[in-house]
Amino acid sequence: MTTPRQTLSYLRHLFEHRGIAPNRRYGQNFLIDLNTHDLIARSAELGPRDVVLEVGPGAGALTAMMAEKVSAVVTVEIDPAMAQLTREAVSGLQNVRVLQQDALARKSEIAPEVLDSLRAGLAVAPDRTLKLVANLPYHVATPIISNLLVHPELCPSLMVVTIQRELADRMMAEPHGEMYGALSVLVQALADAEIVRILSPKVFWPRPKVESAIIKIVPSAEKRAAIPDLPWFHEVVRRVFTLRRKNLRVVLYRLWKPYWRDKAQVDALLEALDLTGDVRAEALNVQEFIDLAEALRSRLG
Ligand code: SAM
Repeated sequence: MTTPRQTLSYLRHLFEHRGIAPNRRYGQNFLIDLNTHDLIARSAELGPRDVVLEVGPGAGALTAMMAEKVSAVVTVEIDPAMAQLTREAVSGLQNVRVLQQDALARKSEIAPEVLDSLRAGLAVAPDRTLKLVANLPYHVATPIISNLLVHPELCPSLMVVTIQRELADRMMAEPHGEMYGALSVLVQALADAEIVRILSPKVFWPRPKVESAIIKIVPSAEKRAAIPDLPWFHEVVRRVFTLRRKNLRVVLYRLWKPYWRDKAQVDALLEALDLTGDVRAEALNVQEFIDLAEALRSRLG
């Protein structure tokens, strides 16, 4: 089956015909550059063993293209009008599941129906691998990527996603900079990431105000194995950066107050890690965060 390629004139005509318009509330900026579609699909190295999760298929341009190459695609689309367009774009393809709902439950977790559909797709054969490939709605990109990265059972083998450029820069940021934060530490602690391409607003309709980027994130089993307690590590990183302007002595003392007799105990823990109390979270590299989380786990556990 050949689905029409979704250029600007195709989408404009389709939307006009249906009496719909892009909805800003849902971050609807449609990718209208065919080369960029191809680049995303190529970067995801799609093959017959892949089960793809696509969050926000919109009118289904990427969905149809990917479905022809992979074992199954699970798409989740919040907007009923878009879910309908996706269904039409993939009609005739048996391996696409279109879920019409919010991809997130309780604002920050992947919805259970999505996880169940992925499990069902992966259960078809033991060699199936999960990939996240999507032009993500910007406002949910961080929870989707971080949730999947730390997921105990459904961490994808690869994520190729279009996100706001600033978010991609955050993921790649080094210690000491303004951009360095919980997301940088999480991504770099668990994966290898690279920016595939910076995208001009021109490749979207309507044009967003900012640049975007295609980022490729390859989760690493080796890196994951080097973190003894991943949920705890995640919690430490998240909490410590909530007080990024304070020094670590104050941060650790405040965050786990019932566990300390005084700040000298915090200093002793930091000293054992070769850190001084006046250093800020943004100065710690990924390994120092792993060591800090471990030291806290033994101290507070
Ligand atoms: N994939 C299409 C493309 O590349 O042209 C559309 C991408 S557009 C940036 C994001 C899509 O995500 C929209 O279709 C929007 O309705 C959908 N969306 C927004 N928030 C969502 C959510 N919480 N759960 C699922 N889909 C969502």
